[in-house]
Amino acid sequence: MRIEDPKILEALAEMGVELRSGTALSAETHLGIGGTTDLLSIKSHDSIPDLLNLLDSHHVPHKFLGGGSNLLVQDGELPWVALQLARSEPEVTLAGNFARIDAAADLGRTVTYCAKNDLGGMEGLIGVPGTVGGALRMNAGAYGTQIGTYVREVKLYRAAARKLETLRGDQISFEYRHTSFAPDDMMLAVKLELPSKPFKEILQGIRICNEKRRASQPLGQKSAGCIFKNPPGASAGRMIDELGLKGLSVGDARVSDRHANFFVNAGTASASDMLSLIADVRERVAKNFGVTLEHEVVLWLA
Ligand SMILES: Cc1cc2nc3c(=O)[nH]c(=O)nc-3n(C[C@H](O)[C@H](O)[C@H](O)COP(=O)(O)OP(=O)(O)OC[C@H]3O[C@@H](n4cnc5c(N)ncnc54)[C@H](O)[C@@H]3O)c2cc1C
Repeated sequence: MRIEDPKILEALAEMGVELRSGTALSAETHLGIGGTTDLLSIKSHDSIPDLLNLLDSHHVPHKFLGGGSNLLVQDGELPWVALQLARSEPEVTLAGNFARIDAAADLGRTVTYCAKNDLGGMEGLIGVPGTVGGALRMNAGAYGTQIGTYVREVKLYRAAARKLETLRGDQISFEYRHTSFAPDDMMLAVKLELPSKPFKEILQGIRICNEKRRASQPLGQKSAGCIFKNPPGASAGRMIDELGLKGLSVGDARVSDRHANFFVNAGTASASDMLSLIADVRERVAKNFGVTLEHEVVLWLA
C-alpha cells in the first residue's frame, strides 16, 4: 500500500515519522519472503497515538514489524503499511538489578550488554533473533528460559484506550509463545529484573546455548525459527522427523535437513510455496498422529 495523499505525508513529516516508500518486506524478514509496502519508521513514542489516529481516520490499515524473525508475509503489493520503531540511544539503562530496555533494541545485543554488567538469567535467549518488543509479544524462550519471567513493567500503546500506558508485570500473562497483550497493542519499552551473576558464569551459559543451537539448527539459512508450536507434552519437530519429512520441498520452501520444525527458504521461495509446505506437513501430522499443529510463525496474509 502506498501513501500518496499530501495531507498524510505532511502530517507524518510533522510527527517525525520517516516513510520508506515501496519497501520490499522480503528484505526485512529472516525468511526472505514478502511483498512490498510503505514502511513507517517511528522515532518518538509520544507520536504514536497521533500517528494511529491519522492512519485510522484515513482508513490506512497497518501492521507492526519488529525484527521480522518470526514472520511469513504474503507476496505482491501488500494491502497495509508496516510500522516499525526506530532504534534510540541509550537502548538499555541499568539501575541495580533492573534493566529498562527500548522495544526496538536487538534482543541478542541486550542479553550481552546485561551480561557484561553481571546481570544474567537470559542466557537461553542469546540466539533468538529479533527485537526486545518482538520477544515480549511472542514471549520468546529457549532452553528453559522465557523473557516473561523477568518482566516487571511494560510501556505500551494500548490500542483500545488509544493512549500510552504502563502495565505491571503481574497484569500481563506470559504463556508458551503467547501473551495477554491485545493483538494491536504495541510494546514500547520494558523493565526487567535480572539476577546478579558474574559475567564469566553467564558467558559459560551463553556458550553452551550457542553450541546447542549450532548443533541442531540451520543457522546459515533463511528461516523463521520453529514453524509450529510444540503441542503439550510433545515435540512438533520430532513428529515431522518421524514421518521422514526432512527435505520435503515445495519450490524453494524446504523442511530443514537439520531441524524438522525449521522450514527454510533455500532460494527464491514465495509465500505461497511456504504456505503449501506448511499445510502439507500439518495435514500429514494430523493424519498420522491425530494432532493439529498450531503455527508459531506469525502469518501476514490479506
Ligand atoms: C534462526 C531462528 C531461531 C529462532 N529461535 C527462537 C527460539 O529459540 N525461541 C523463540 O521464542 N523464538 C525463536 N525464533 C523466532 C523469533 O526470533 C522470535 O519470535 C522473536 O522474538 C520475534 O521478534 P521480532 O522482533 O523479530 O518480531 P517480528 O518477527 O517482527 O514479529 C513477530 C510478531 O510480534 C509482533 N511485534 C514485534 N514487535 C512488536 C512490538 N514492539 N509491539 C507489538 N508487537 C510486536 C509483530 O507484529 C508480529 O505479530 C527464532 C527465529 C529464527 C529465525
